[in-house]
Amino acid sequence: MKQLFTGLCLWCLCQGLALAAPAEVQGLRLWAAPDHTRVVFDISDPLSHKMFSLHNPERLVIDIPNAIAAAGLAIPDKRVGIVKGVRTGKRGKGQLRLVLDLTQAVRPHSFTLKPGGQHGHRLVVDLHDPAVKQQPVAQSSAQGRPAGRKTKQLRDLVIAIDAGHGGEDPGATGRGGTREKDVVLSIARKLAALIEREPGMRPVLTRQGDYYIGLRQRINKARQQNADLFISIHADGFRDRRVQGSSVYVLSRRGASSEMARWLAEKENAADLAGGVSLDDKDQLLAEVLLDLSQTAAIEASVDVAGNMFQELRRLGKTHKKSVQKAGFVVLKSPDIPSVLVETAFITNPTEERKLRDKRHQQALARAMFSGILRYFATHQPPGTHVVAREYTIKRGDTLGHIAQHYQVSLNSLKGYNGLKSNRLRIGQTLRIPPAGI
Ligand SMILES: [Zn+2]
Repeated sequence: MKQLFTGLCLWCLCQGLALAAPAEVQGLRLWAAPDHTRVVFDISDPLSHKMFSLHNPERLVIDIPNAIAAAGLAIPDKRVGIVKGVRTGKRGKGQLRLVLDLTQAVRPHSFTLKPGGQHGHRLVVDLHDPAVKQQPVAQSSAQGRPAGRKTKQLRDLVIAIDAGHGGEDPGATGRGGTREKDVVLSIARKLAALIEREPGMRPVLTRQGDYYIGLRQRINKARQQNADLFISIHADGFRDRRVQGSSVYVLSRRGASSEMARWLAEKENAADLAGGVSLDDKDQLLAEVLLDLSQTAAIEASVDVAGNMFQELRRLGKTHKKSVQKAGFVVLKSPDIPSVLVETAFITNPTEERKLRDKRHQQALARAMFSGILRYFATHQPPGTHVVAREYTIKRGDTLGHIAQHYQVSLNSLKGYNGLKSNRLRIGQTLRIPPAGI
């Protein structure tokens, strides 16, 4: 009897010890976005924490009961965003204290993430500038674009370019280690550069570096800039590495049009959770209703743009399907901006992974998308915008007929617009391409 009692006690003690095993902070990553800095701690187990600010100098203190910092915890030694440094220290009763040294006061927001992708449990701390209030979706929807402009001044066409994923969310990864978030940002920048050079057009990038932005925030950024078009750039991933080709998606009302599309839609939408964006926004439902009201017209326009882009991409290489696909991607849900999502290739296909890394191929993809955009706006010029001034420099073998056909303008308008009396062209000569309808 006594023997059993001791045995039980020992068992209790061991259980007690097992329960009391401290959680470990094993890794630390910092991501600097223009409007906030994200700090991500890799943790061995889910944990609770307390957080408070200290001033002069500015610091954020995170206390975690029953936790330790892993022996080899690598701490960045240079400033990232508004974080100057990170310190760890032990407090009484096995408490771990993490101190973030900051360049300014912050409005912190923290949450934990369950294991996902390549990462395990995480504690995420977002440091926002207290002067910048987060704008709910509904509010920016209500703002919309100015209904009528008092001045007759012409404005630039604004093209929002959205490089998918970023920061904690790498997107799909190829066997060679190529990450979707990197290649799509590179392609997005190339597309932005082409648009920048085009008179009467202006690009807006939803993200400019390696950090995550919520899917709704991507839409908001485009809407705040009164974008005329939204293009989300991605690279596909699939478990079967033979699958290849580019795809162009527009929003579907009834969900995905095929098994593959549905799979993709879930994967892309899951990014919001993977990126750890707060979903406690009560205005979301109202926003959904608002979005629904005016979506039909935007979808019709999206189908047109997508069709143009799909044709251009087909010229460049293999496409995954024979036509534009429809899926329920959140980023395509702008109520009044035609929106298109381009899966540039399958990063999980070894040949396409190599191509996606190739700067020349990235440029060709950007050019294909750009041609699709130009072709769309040649026939759908939003009121109050500049005529998209297009120019073409004559190469050997060009004929006026070919050029007119390429830009979908009539031969006469092309001649008249350039004051040409004959069909003779000279190599190096620059022609201005008239807008459609002239
Ligand atoms: Zn993606």
